[in-house]
Order: sequence, then C-alpha cells, then structure tokens
Amino acid sequence: MRPEVERALHTIPIGASSPLRACRNVDTEPLVVAEAHGQYLQDVDGTRYIDFMYGFGPLILGHAPQAVSSAIARQAADGTLFGTYCPQEVELAERIAATADHLEQMRFVCSGTEAVMSTLRLARAYTGRTGVLRFNGGYHGHFDLVQNKDEARMRDAGLDPAAMQSNVYAEYNDTASVERAFAEHSGEIAAVVVEPIACNMSLVLPEDGFLADLRRICDREGAVLIFDEVITGFRLTYGPASNLLGVAPDLTTFGKIIGGGTPVGAFGGRRDIMRLLDEERVLQGGTLAGNPLTMAAGLATLDVLAGAGFYEELERKGALLEAAVERHRAEKGLDFHFVRTGSIFAFIFVPRSTPILRKADVAAQPHAPYTTLYAGFRKAGYHLAPDIEEPMYISAATPDETLEDFAARAVELLATDP
Ligand code: PLP
Repeated sequence: MRPEVERALHTIPIGASSPLRACRNVDTEPLVVAEAHGQYLQDVDGTRYIDFMYGFGPLILGHAPQAVSSAIARQAADGTLFGTYCPQEVELAERIAATADHLEQMRFVCSGTEAVMSTLRLARAYTGRTGVLRFNGGYHGHFDLVQNKDEARMRDAGLDPAAMQSNVYAEYNDTASVERAFAEHSGEIAAVVVEPIACNMSLVLPEDGFLADLRRICDREGAVLIFDEVITGFRLTYGPASNLLGVAPDLTTFGKIIGGGTPVGAFGGRRDIMRLLDEERVLQGGTLAGNPLTMAAGLATLDVLAGAGFYEELERKGALLEAAVERHRAEKGLDFHFVRTGSIFAFIFVPRSTPILRKADVAAQPHAPYTTLYAGFRKAGYHLAPDIEEPMYISAATPDETLEDFAARAVELLATDP
C-alpha cells in the first residue's frame, strides 16, 4: 500500500471523503493526485494519467481551465464570502433561469444532495403529502429519503425507518411500474424524482414517451415532477437536458458543472412552488450557499459554454469516440453495449440483442471485463470510472488522439480478456 494511502486511512474513514475514490470496486489502489491540468491528473510521483472522470462530471472544460482559474483567483482577492446579497449570485441565477421557461426562480446550495433535499421538502410542503417516488438505479445523494433500494439492503444502518417508508420505487423506462406505485400509494406521493437521462446505473437513455408519461401521471395525480439534472445540467446543452428531451418538469436540480469545479448545487422551477421559500414556510439555508467564489467560477464556466459551437464540438468528439469503439468492436467480433449521449459514455457488458432499459439490465452484466479494462488502462496511464456503473466523461480538453487511442486500447483489452 502506498504510504500516502496508509496515512489517509489512519485519519479519514476509507481514506477519502467520498467512497468510490477508494477504488475498492475495481480492486486497485487509489490515485494520489498532486495537481491536474487539461486532460491530465498528475500523481504525487509526477506520473500523468489521462482523465475520463473529470471529478465525477463537473470539469467539462478539463482541469484548471485558464478562464475559470483566473476568475477564482480574482474573486479570492476580492472576498470569498459576504454573507449578504451579492450580484454574482443574482447573475448566475438569472443566466441559469434564462435557459428554460420552467426555471422561473432559482436557489443555490453547496451540493447536489442539498439541491435534491430542498426540492423534496418543497414538494412535500406544496402537496401536503410525504411519499417520494424514485427509480431503482437512480442516485440523488446520500440522505434517507432517496436512499437506493439496493444500498439500503447493504448499508441500512442509521437510516430513519419513517423516511425509508416514504420511499416508493419504480423501474426506469417502465410506465406501468409507475402507475402501479401510484395505485398502491393513492394520494400519498408528493414527488416523482428522476434523472431524465439515467447516469448512475452506467448510462441508460429514456425511451420515447417515458418522460412524457411521467409528466402526464404527475399532472393527473397532483404530484410534483422533479428532474435531477445534477449530472446532465449544462453537460449536453447550454441549460437543462429537459430542453433536448421536450418535457418540462416542475422543479429541476443542478450541481457539478454550474460551479466550475467548486462546491455547488442549485434548484429551481415553478414560481408557485418556489414561493414557499419566499414566504419562509419552507426552510433552506446555507452559510456558504451562493458564495461569490463559487458564483465566479460558475459564471466563468458558463461564459465558455455559451460560446458558439461549444456543444457541437463536444458532440463531434463523442461521436468520434463512439464510431472508433464500434469500428474496433466489429473488427474483433466482440459483443457489448457502448452507450453514449454527447460527452457521457459507458460500457455495458451485455449482448447487444438485449436492450438496456433499467437497473436490472445493467446489474446483469459480469464485472470481470470492466476490472480487466480498468487495470489495463491504469497501467497505460488512464484514469477511468472506479465503478462499473459510473459513466465516464469527455471534456473540452480531450484531444481526438486520446479518443482514438482509448477506443483501440479498450477493444484490445477486452479482446484479450480471459
Ligand atoms: N443527483 C445526481 C444525479 C448525482 O449524480 C449526484 C452525485 O453524483 C447527486 C445528486 C448528489 O450530488 P453531490 O455529490 O454534489 O451531493
């Protein structure tokens, strides 16, 4: 074990402040990183790794992009926390709200978890109900009300049983399971919370009509529809992915990208629901919520994302990667899914004749191919997702050569997998 890891384990449980960083699910020692620039992470020995994780999604511009680093430095010199109104907060809220008609009002918090927590509290207050319908395989943070069903079985210590009872589960891409849940819990469900594109069970795309079905059912049942866009917000287009998907939720959560790599979360939506915060009937607060440092990093990031052709270029890179993987895969006669949307992608080791629609389809895959892939790439100087069900990301700093090399290596490694 590396001495840095041993030292970390002494004072920090698992050695890091979030579990997947420990790389236990890929049977490998974690990277101990000293600095990061562009597409590279550099460890404490000076070895560079090409990154396909980008901090689990926020760093769409790559590591330490000049525009964002300069904005952070400028703001740091002018104060990192005012504890009162600040124009940067209003500016970022306005810019995000301007991306979709359904984002009438916004609030900032410091993490995606807090953003989801706040929307659920709003939905409960608005409807006077307590139930929360969510989908197996989704992830919305680590608090009780959205605890994953599988995780609840494995790690149920410390959860509030009453909160867990409020959890109602359905299957992604399965409208009938949603109808059944509403029938079984008639008049109890305050909110349906969903990742409109599921990014926490590898990568699962919504089938045509599924999100529209959720909209219709929520309208009929008087439940609040929440799109959790902590990953997808500003990842696929300038604004929420709902703009591409053609369904408007009542509330939306953001995180990751809008903070330019600093701690952030945000939520927003219908004025008549957000009004409950204005009237102080629902409490949401935070010492560091909407702090000027994060706002400056977010504004500098959005400046770049708003540039002409930014998302078209990311899509071009994504398509290049997909085409290269498919070409090599076909040449070697291998059979697996390579799922991609824009700059998010994942391998799923299930025959292509089996459609990937929900958690069970992803959970059915063997783990060995990904462990082989992870180990081979680590040796070759790449940092991949430290869990088979995490998706990976391309950034604006990922060059075409990296994508070509990645595709060829991936298929080569899988072709030699015993
Ligand atoms: N919602 C989704 C869809 C996420 O992917 C995550 C984290 O990855 C969260 C919420 C929680 O965000 P955070 O880790 O910032 O608390």
